[in-house]
Amino acid sequence: MTKKPLLFDCDVSIIGAGLSGLASAYYLRESGINVKIFEARNRAGGRILSVSDKKESYFDLGPAWFWPHQINIQEMISELDIKYFEQYEKGHFLFENDINKNASRHLPKWEMPVSYRIKGGTSELINKLADKLTPETVNLNSIVTQIESRDGGLYISGLKDNKDFRIKTKYAIVTLPPALIPTQINFLPRLSSKVTRAMEDTHTWMGHAMKVVIVYEKPFWRNKGLSGMGMSYVGPVQQFHDATPYDEKVGALFGWIGSLREEKKDERKQKIIDQVVRMFGDKGEKPLFYDELDWSKENFTSHENEKIKFVSEHPNYGNPTLLEPQMSERLFFASTEVSPISGGYLDGAIYIAEQVSKKILNMI
Ligand SMILES: Cc1cc2nc3c(=O)[nH]c(=O)nc-3n(C[C@H](O)[C@H](O)[C@H](O)COP(=O)(O)OP(=O)(O)OC[C@H]3O[C@@H](n4cnc5c(N)ncnc54)[C@H](O)[C@@H]3O)c2cc1C
Repeated sequence: MTKKPLLFDCDVSIIGAGLSGLASAYYLRESGINVKIFEARNRAGGRILSVSDKKESYFDLGPAWFWPHQINIQEMISELDIKYFEQYEKGHFLFENDINKNASRHLPKWEMPVSYRIKGGTSELINKLADKLTPETVNLNSIVTQIESRDGGLYISGLKDNKDFRIKTKYAIVTLPPALIPTQINFLPRLSSKVTRAMEDTHTWMGHAMKVVIVYEKPFWRNKGLSGMGMSYVGPVQQFHDATPYDEKVGALFGWIGSLREEKKDERKQKIIDQVVRMFGDKGEKPLFYDELDWSKENFTSHENEKIKFVSEHPNYGNPTLLEPQMSERLFFASTEVSPISGGYLDGAIYIAEQVSKKILNMI
């Protein structure tokens, strides 16, 4: 069999430039070792994606929040000098269960837990992390398809800009959501069935969510004493929240889309706007900007044959099988779902990245 040409070798290869991949490179960067990241998409960030209206304000189609008890993300954003602010929760929330009746107004009966958002959108975290790495660290459009353990090292191969590539590395950190790994990467020799099963049994957090952002001139609902939070049993959006940027240059709502996911985008968009008008008022009729993303259709986040697509509560992540290095202790898994702390969340991606990087630094 003819082998693909070896392009170069490096100490640590990181597969995936989401938060965990970039954070791993960040923790390894000052040790003087040669680190490369291979990212399938044409952008870094993975599940983190902030989109913009005329490049002025940014709105999250991926994660938006972190919480006061999550110390790993707080340490990182303080190190990177990233600013954040409290999620707007003041006022009544709305509840809709009949399309022909006004949504009812309620004040939360409980104290709303505080959550925070990053100024400039969550992608600010990705941009600031990428700024700390040398430009040649991150290789975009690089789909890893195989990891082979041989001759006391690992050979990683795949397609970069549709051309074959192959590199040799001492250690590899795979940051893909575990359920995606068996469908994307071929391991030689094969990983044990216990490890493969553990991957398949790990739900990808939010991997099947569909999110919408709708931007207006002003957060007009706030003048009516509404928080922007709304729940609906009749949809298509099941839940709305305020997504207005810190400087309030514009007002914005985000929502979780429950129904009409297979409808044409324009038709769904109109029905979502109709729902905003129904629930929040006539000023919802003419948005300045609208965007949506169905994460279940993103090939580098989800795949259609996943065993567990929906869960009723937050899974118990951190399966010990996935915390064990494979291939003679050279191959590590480090997506947020692998983390025993804050698994599924941004905080978990940072925690596991730091733990795995420390292990590698002790071994190298
Ligand atoms: C809609 C939505 C809302 C969310 N809301 C929140 C929230 O409010 N708060 C919170 O804490 N968390 C939230 N999350 C979860 C949060 O996004 C994740 O915890 C975090 O982004 C995971 O980072 P990661 O690096 O582990 O994985 P990922 O971001 O999935 O990174 C994996 C990377 O691997 C790449 N990749 C895949 N296949 C290959 C391949 N073959 N070769 C090379 N690269 C490959 C992918 O493109 C991706 O960049 C949300 C997620 C979504 C989708």
